[in-house]
Order: sequence, then C-alpha cells, then structure tokens
Amino acid sequence: MSREPIIFNFSELTSVIDEYICPICMETYYKKEIYQCRQGHCSCKDCWKKSLEIKKECTQCKIRVNSFKNLSRTRQLENLILKTDVCCPYSFKNIIRVDESEELIKDSNGCKEIIKLEELDNHIEICGFRFVKCGYHKKGCKDKIRYNENEIHISECEYQTSKCTHCSNVYLLKTIQQHYLECHSMLIECKECNEKIKRGEMNNHLDKECQEVIIPCKFSQFGCNDKIKKRKFENHLDQINHNKHLSMAIDHFNTAIEHLNIKNTQLSNSINELTKGKEDLIIKNNQLLNYIDKLTKCKEYKNNWIISNYSKINHNNNYEFLKSPQFGYDTKDLFDIKFFKNKDNVGKIAVYLFPASEQKNLTFSITLLNKDTKKNFTLTFNNYIKLGSGKGWLNFIESDQLNKENGYVTQDDKIEFEFTITMPLLSN
Ligand SMILES: [Zn+2]
Ligand SMILES: [Zn+2]
Ligand SMILES: [Zn+2]
Ligand SMILES: [Zn+2]
Ligand SMILES: [Zn+2]
Ligand SMILES: [Zn+2]
Ligand SMILES: [Zn+2]
Repeated sequence: MSREPIIFNFSELTSVIDEYICPICMETYYKKEIYQCRQGHCSCKDCWKKSLEIKKECTQCKIRVNSFKNLSRTRQLENLILKTDVCCPYSFKNIIRVDESEELIKDSNGCKEIIKLEELDNHIEICGFRFVKCGYHKKGCKDKIRYNENEIHISECEYQTSKCTHCSNVYLLKTIQQHYLECHSMLIECKECNEKIKRGEMNNHLDKECQEVIIPCKFSQFGCNDKIKKRKFENHLDQINHNKHLSMAIDHFNTAIEHLNIKNTQLSNSINELTKGKEDLIIKNNQLLNYIDKLTKCKEYKNNWIISNYSKINHNNNYEFLKSPQFGYDTKDLFDIKFFKNKDNVGKIAVYLFPASEQKNLTFSITLLNKDTKKNFTLTFNNYIKLGSGKGWLNFIESDQLNKENGYVTQDDKIEFEFTITMPLLSN
C-alpha cells in the first residue's frame, strides 16, 4: 500500500538552534553539506559557491577566500545535526499541505515516536501512522487513512459495494440505505391487512387482492353511500336492500341506452351521407374527366343573338335577310348568321351559318329560345363548309309559329337565338 507523500520543514519537527541555520539562505542544514572559512564561519555549500562568484571573501568576517577549494567541510556539525531528536511528520494531522504557509496541527491519534534525524527517512517508510490511499479510491473514496486504521476504514468505507439482500442487485454502501427505501423486492407491510407484500406489488395488492381495503358500494352512484371492507362486500349486498338503488340504476342505464341509440342513428346517417357524397364526387369527377377530354379535343364557342322588333321585319324576297354581328375565336375562325324571315316567299324562317374561312368537321347547333325552356327549338348539323358558302336550314321553322302566344316572341317583340359552334382543336 503506497505511502502518500508528505511535505514538511525540518524546523517543524524540532526546535532549531541558530548554529543549524545557514546565515546566507536562512535554511537549516538538513541534508546539506556545510563548509567553513579559516575563521570557522559556516554556510551551506550552495551559498558559498554563489557568494564567491560575486566576491572572493567570507560574507561574515570578510577574510579573503580565493576559491571554494580553500574551504573545509564541517562534518562534525553535519553529524551533530543528524543526531538531533525530531518528532515523526506523521504526528501531524494535515500532513498533506494545501500550501507552504499552512501550519501543521498535531494529531493526538498520530505517531508519538521521537527519532534521531538520521533515522527519519527510514522511519517515514515504515511508520504505522503513515497515510495511505483507501483501497476503494478507484471507486471514488477520497479519504487518506493512517496505515494502522486501514482495516477499520475498509470495513466501513461507503465506497465498497454491497448486495441488496432483497433484490440481489449490487450498490455502493453509501447508496444502499436510499435503495432500501425504494427496493421493489423488499417486503413491506400492507397498512390494511398487515400482510408482508413486495413493495413493487403493493399497488396491485391494494387494487385487487387486499380484502381489508375499504371500498364504496357499487351502487354509490345511485345513492348508497356505505363504505365497506372488500371482504364484507357480498354481505353488504345481502344485508342492505338495494331495490331503490337498483331502480335508479335501471333508469340511468335506460336513458344511457336511448342516448346511445340516438347517437348510433346519427352516426349511421352521417355514414350514409358520406357514402352518398362519395358517389356524387365520383360522378362529378367523371364529368370533369369527360369535360377535360372534350376540351383537349374540341374548342367550343357559344353566344346569343337577339333580334329586336321582330313583327316589323318584312322580308319579301330571297335577298332580304338580317345578318348577325361577326363572332368567333380569333381573326381566323370568324362566323356570322343570316336570318331570313320569308325565304323563297314560302312563309318559312331560314337560318344559315357563314364562316370567314373554310371549316372542316364543324358542329353547329342553333336554338330558338322559348319563354318555356321546354319548348326551346334546336337544330344541329355536323358538316364542313366551303369558303363563300353557308350552311343551315332552309326550313328552320314556320314563320307563323313565331308569335307571342306560343312564347317564341317576347312581350317587347324580340326573338333570341342561342348558338354553339364546336370545332376539333386540330381541324385547322
Ligand atoms: Zn545557505
Ligand atoms: Zn569568516
Ligand atoms: Zn512515525
Ligand atoms: Zn474509503
Ligand atoms: Zn433491493
Ligand atoms: Zn392488504
Ligand atoms: Zn350499498
């Protein structure tokens, strides 16, 4: 067991007389060689060498000293010092100093031996009061213990490990007391039935097993305020008439069932609505897909043409007609509609579409609007139209049918056509 290092001054171990102190460095001659001048003035070897470098003389009597070789060693004094009685450094408490100026304090439990200085080095190594590290210092014990107290310390050191007798887990001695307050395997007494139960199973015991626990009657919600020990619970049910409470319970649960039925119906309805909504969405989605499909294939133009003062229009021959404003997508695909009130003088309305450029695969539909939309009159054709010629219906409708009575002419004497032109996008 390695000795802990110690730091001490010679003067702390004995009362030092002046002759043992170098007059230059003021230190005792402990473990130093002493040299003297011819007049017997002493100093330590180092101090002589340093002072002779500065001035070749004795610092005390000023006698000439040419070199260190002229001095003589004072062995008698060196030996005298070694015979000095000193106390053991392990007679102090705080032998491991914090700083140089710290004063050492005597320890009544320390070494009491008085030794000759020449034996000090040997004594220190074997002194029964020397300080050693605790055997558990690697586990964290910082204590410095006297060698002869080591066994006692080791047996008590709180950094030794200890096995919990209940759970067999290993803990430092310093934490095991705390562990005993928490150990789940430790048997503790149930405060209700006094049975010994493992601490970790106590909650379960109180919840489910312990017959001494006081519980409310199961009809507490319905008016029975009795508190009964679990083991007497069946008795309680037998002894006390619970009819009143039972009837309250039945009412309560009936109401609850009604609420649940209502909730259930609401939920079913919601589910139906959601299903329906989902179907609608699928249909909408398909419509949109179709529409997108159409859009990618065709372009469509829709507009209305209102003809005012219908009854005043008087077309007597083939060359008389009304022409709609030009309409269409752009300067290339422009159209107009010609309206003949009395084509070929046979009392029939004719409607023609005239494109400004040649059109292929064009669909044209025109609707004569009625006050009653069910009577709207529509005609459609799919065709291509050569440049300069029109396409339409010579006999669109009898002129006579256009009157206010059957709804084609408005009160302020107007008729209205709605027309739609659809062309394949890639046609032109
Ligand atoms: Zn000196
Ligand atoms: Zn001298
Ligand atoms: Zn000692
Ligand atoms: Zn220790
Ligand atoms: Zn334990
Ligand atoms: Zn219990
Ligand atoms: Zn009860």
